[in-house]
Amino acid sequence: MIDVHAHFAGEGYEFPAEWEKIRAAGVKTVILASDTPAHAKWHAEFAKTHNGCYFTVGVHPSELENFGRETLETLRAMAADEKCVAVGEIGLDYHYPDPDKRAQRAAFEAQLALAEELSLPVEIHSRDACADTLAILREHRGGTAHGFLMHCYSYGAENLPDFLELGAYFSFGGVVCFKNARRAVESVRACPLDRILSETDSPYLSPFRGEKNSPANIPVIVEKLAEGKGIPLPAMIEAIGANAARLFPKMLPEGAFLQNK
Ligand SMILES: [Zn+2]
Repeated sequence: MIDVHAHFAGEGYEFPAEWEKIRAAGVKTVILASDTPAHAKWHAEFAKTHNGCYFTVGVHPSELENFGRETLETLRAMAADEKCVAVGEIGLDYHYPDPDKRAQRAAFEAQLALAEELSLPVEIHSRDACADTLAILREHRGGTAHGFLMHCYSYGAENLPDFLELGAYFSFGGVVCFKNARRAVESVRACPLDRILSETDSPYLSPFRGEKNSPANIPVIVEKLAEGKGIPLPAMIEAIGANAARLFPKMLPEGAFLQNK
């Protein structure tokens, strides 16, 4: 099983115990999503010494204080790492009052251009900004030419076709396990099987409210996804594995051993 979006850097997990717990849960692949260059560096170091662990490079829309040409240079250099599989998480976040929409758009566009230049897929964060996200993606088709993921998809089934038309994949996390998850479960049901992925967004959004999340919770989430699609669990696991391999071609087959790593 796979977690396509988790954060380890600066989150206070205890390693190696946490990693052992994740592997014991049957989660063999984890993509560490970065929100700043400093966290990307941390994730790169961790991925280097852990089989089945990969990372992304990118700056989150809420972390743009020092974003500029130098930032892009740093991201570009880190992306050359064999374990960097995507640009992300990048996008728009209008959740908090008075978002700097211009700055968010500029950083999103610059990082889409970087993904295009590097031939990498993109992990997109989009919160309360559905229309603007779609508009930017439509204007910059080259930026998602190598595929993109709507991480923690939250816009409801009615918006799925607009993203699908642009070639999106969708990942769902612990929210599908909440008691009031009707909206998220409807999206899972409406999402084509060859476009679904599983994530935790650890340490956030645990399926067990109030707890610190971990990629070790992926099995609980994948079970909900199988239930939502009305298919057996092994079929869901297989579909997610195939989807991940298609979207993140720099990843090695599950369980593959990196020499000297
Ligand atoms: Zn995230």
